[in-house]
Formats: sequence, C-alpha cells, structure tokens
Amino acid sequence: MLDSLGNLKRTHYCGALRATDAGRDVTVMGWVHRRRDLGKLLFLDVRDRAGLVQVVFNKEAKPEAHAKAEQARSEYVVAVEGKVVKREKANPEIPSGEIELVASKLYILNTAKTPPFPIEDEINAGEETRLRYRYLDLRRPKPHRNLALRHQIVLEMRKAMDEMGFIEVETPMLTRSSPEGARDYLVPSRVHRGQFYALPQSPQIFKQILMIAGLDRYFQIVKCFRDEDLRADRQPEFTQLDLEMSFPRQEDIFGVIENVMVRCCAVAGVQVQAPFPHMLYQDAIRKYGSDKPDLRFTMELHEVTDCFPPEAKQKLQIEGNVFALAAPGGAAYSRKQLDELTEKAKSVGARGAYFVKIAADGTTSTVEKLIGAEKVKKLAEACGAKIGDLVLAVSAKQEIKGTEAAALVAGQLRLHLAEELNQIDRTKWKFAWLTGFPLFEWSDSDKAWVSAQHPFTGIVDEDLDKLETAPWEVRSKGYDLVLNGYELGSGSIRIHREDTQERIFKALGLTEEQLRQRFGFFLDALAYGTPPHGGIALGVDRIAMLLSGEKSIREVIAFGKTTAAQDLMAESPSEVDKEQLDQLGIKIKE
Ligand code: ASP
Repeated sequence: MLDSLGNLKRTHYCGALRATDAGRDVTVMGWVHRRRDLGKLLFLDVRDRAGLVQVVFNKEAKPEAHAKAEQARSEYVVAVEGKVVKREKANPEIPSGEIELVASKLYILNTAKTPPFPIEDEINAGEETRLRYRYLDLRRPKPHRNLALRHQIVLEMRKAMDEMGFIEVETPMLTRSSPEGARDYLVPSRVHRGQFYALPQSPQIFKQILMIAGLDRYFQIVKCFRDEDLRADRQPEFTQLDLEMSFPRQEDIFGVIENVMVRCCAVAGVQVQAPFPHMLYQDAIRKYGSDKPDLRFTMELHEVTDCFPPEAKQKLQIEGNVFALAAPGGAAYSRKQLDELTEKAKSVGARGAYFVKIAADGTTSTVEKLIGAEKVKKLAEACGAKIGDLVLAVSAKQEIKGTEAAALVAGQLRLHLAEELNQIDRTKWKFAWLTGFPLFEWSDSDKAWVSAQHPFTGIVDEDLDKLETAPWEVRSKGYDLVLNGYELGSGSIRIHREDTQERIFKALGLTEEQLRQRFGFFLDALAYGTPPHGGIALGVDRIAMLLSGEKSIREVIAFGKTTAAQDLMAESPSEVDKEQLDQLGIKIKE
C-alpha cells in the first residue's frame, strides 16, 4: 500500500543538509538512491535535486519505520521524517557527509521499475538508451548541474540585455521561409490547403522589421529550426540570443556582446577580459586555416609554396599554394604515425603531405630528394621549427576560386595534431571577432555564388561596384564571434536601402517574380524609412556546452535529438492518422 502525500510538507532538500542542521527535526522527500541492510540498522541514501543524504533506520528504536524501509527499493519515491545528527565518521565524498538523518517515519509515496542504468554520473549506458529514458538520465547529478548552469546563463543574458535597454519581443514560429541557407521545416496549413508555414530558421526578417518599426533595441532568446545534416554541436532546433539595434557602429554591437559574454562566463566561474581581439577572415584562414580559429595554442600556418621548385611541384602534382606548420614534439613520430597522418591529411582533402623532422641529431625530410636540403631548411625556418618539431606541409586536391584550399586542409591537421600532441591549454578561454568576410561563397552543389551568411548582410561600401562584375571580391559587413575553435554566432551591419537589397537578390540569381513572391513584403517595408541597423545572434546551446565543459550540445538540452534528428523518448518524428492527413489534403507518396 502506498502512502499519500496528504498534508506532509518538505522542510529541506536532502542534499542541502549540513552540520549546522544537526539537532533539527526535518522532513525530506526524494528517491531511494541505495539501500544497505545491516540487520539492526538499515541505511537508505535518499536523493533529490540538491544531492544525497544518508538516512538511518534503527530496528529497535523505530521498528515500524525500519520494517517499511525494508520494502524500499531503488528509485522508490519516499518522504522521511527524522532528526539530523552529526556522524561519528564523516563521509567526505558527499557534501552532506558530516551528518545523517535518523528516521522516525518513512512514507513510501511511489514504487519504481528497475531503471535500465544506475542514476549516477558514472554510467556506461549508450547515448541512445540515455535519450530514450531521458527522465532517468536527467535525474543524474550532471545533467541537473548542466541545466541549472544553462538557466543561470540565460538569466544573466536577459538581465544584461535589459540593463542595456533592449526589449525582448517574440516573433512568430509559424511564418514563411527565411533564408539562412538551410532547408526549412514546413507546417501544412489546414485552413489554406496546399499552403505551408515554415518554422523560422531565425527571426532575421522580423527583427529587421522591428527596427523599421522604431523599436531601436530588440532581443530575444529564441528557438530556430534548420533542417540540415547534424553534428555533435548542431540540432534541428536550437536556441539563439538574437539581437538587433538601430544606428549602430560595429563596435557598439561588439560592446553589447562582450558585456553579455563576460557576464555569462562569470556566472560559470570563468574570468574573461573584454574587448576581444579582432582578426580578418583572410588572416584567420592563412594563419589558422579556419574561420573559427582555436587560439588556445599557436602552431600557426605559413605559406611555403616557394620552397617547392617547379619540377618538384610537377612531380608532386601540386596546384595552388602549399601551407605548412611546425608541430611541437612531432619529430618523435614513427614511420607508421607519419603514414597515418598522411592518410588523415588525404581524408580532409590533401593532395599530398610532406614532412620535415627536426631531431637533435639532424633534420630529415620526405621531400629532400625532390626539393633539396637548402629548401628543406627554408621550409623549416619559415615555420619557426625548433628541435623536436615535426614540420608538416600540405597541398590541396582542389583549388576553389577565392579560397586557400591548402590552408583549410592544414588548419584541420593543426587541430588534429594539437589534440594528439597535447598542445591545447584547456584552462584558456580565447574569444575573437572575425571580420572582413567575403559576401558570397561558391556553392558546389548549386554551382552558383550564394550568400556566405544571409542575403541581408551589408556590403563594404567600396566593394559595391564589384557586385555584378567580381562577386568573389566583395567583402561583407559581417562578423563572427569565435571561442576556443567554435563559432558562437554571427551577425552584420545590414543593408538598409531597398535598391541595394534588390541588387543583392538579383546577384543571387532571383528573378523579379521570385523576388516579389519571397521577399516582396520585406522590400516594401524597407521603402518606408529604414534606419541603418545591425545585429547578431549567438548560439545559446554552444555557449552552455562550452561553459559546462561538455563536448556535445545534447548534454545541455533537456530533450535533445539524435544525429538522425529523432527524439527517442517521445518517438518523433512519427506517422500520423490518415484522418489528420486528409484534413490537410496531404497524401504520402510511396
Ligand atoms: N540571423 C543570423 C543567424 O541566425 C544572425 C544575424 O545575422 O543576426 O545566423
């Protein structure tokens, strides 16, 4: 027979009891974490959101409570009345370890099936099982801590934004397609058969319209939806801190975000200093081979094309530039390790990988015969290589107009080697602003120039004339915020003139008709006195992930989806009744 909660009132959280509570009569409620029966004495560890407390049942002193405790099993829901006493021998492993609770009464409020994995931080259940039984997974201390930290971060964001005069405004979830470059999640309309809403890829157009509406400073902690290939740090729905402001200079937007980030980091116990350094996109690519450089270690790239004479280039089939870096400690790599590195290089798009080992007893190189000792020396020097270093130079399989393909390959190997050679200082928090992005990038799948960010991104004034003639040379007024090798967010000063916006849409290949159909309402709005404006959006999940020391954003999302975009607990997506489909006028094609 189960007990009822009746008028029982909890007085304390289990995990919050401390030595200063000794002598108090308390009532706690929670889950049975573990039971140890020593005959005369029976111990239950009872757990709640705050942690564990050890509860003692004495057969002689309280036979009724003891008898009931014998029925308790793992994950039963209980309430305990008793007195807090100091333990003779404290347990330093748990925060409440200096005390225990001597029970006078036990209420069993509910039973539980045996869980598929223990409710502890150390479990070896696979992620699928954890996601399927997410309510049990979330009972563990670490997910609790992560969700609590995420809450603190979001709260701090709201406070900071409010203090800086931003107003949180909600924008629609049922809307029309917004161009952030991913596929839309569509929602069929029942009332308007054959028509669809799109879930927003971002509130981009709405926040710009709020500037036209004179709101001046908008923000929103908002869900966005993008149907794209998933990775560890991506989800089909994710949360952004989205903001927009009128009449801003770039540095005003940076200042707002720096303030927010310094405060959010402080909430997680991480001290960072503003302002954050700036870097040009081109420099980031040439120095780090990435548009989101990890600056916790150096291992900078150097262009060493000159070290490869024409005959060597021909033999090695090198087209385009060659980039190299020195990896500290890599001179100790074996033949086998170099072979693996070459394989790795090829898998990320290298045509070839060429090595120089700087050992105490001399320098050796896999390309010495081809380029000669002099050039080998020059190559090592260009990278600033020291004794013990491995110099790795790479060429790329394919050169794409407007990119440094070899640098991008070298950048991936830089990360790989830094990890392998333990070069990453995990106590560092390295923010950077990236600017000077190209407005367009070449899309291999579309065989066309597409917006590198979204089509509302402003254009560097001097480059406006190249829009139709040399699109790859046009620089944008966009910027990204990067932290420890992750892109935290991006934004831009926007286009606020209708004529320029129309030119961009046309440069992107939209016909007059498509343009009217997709963006007509926005172009109309732009014509009614649009102030210069700009903004940014930061990924809240990524920020919470990094600040809680996790490697996957699923660890900071209560009900995340798998990399196949499924919710294993709620079993979505799912099929729906034929009746529902009929109402929507939808027939599923086989
Ligand atoms: N809408 C953009 C994004 O979601 C951010 C921005 O430009 O403000 O990436």
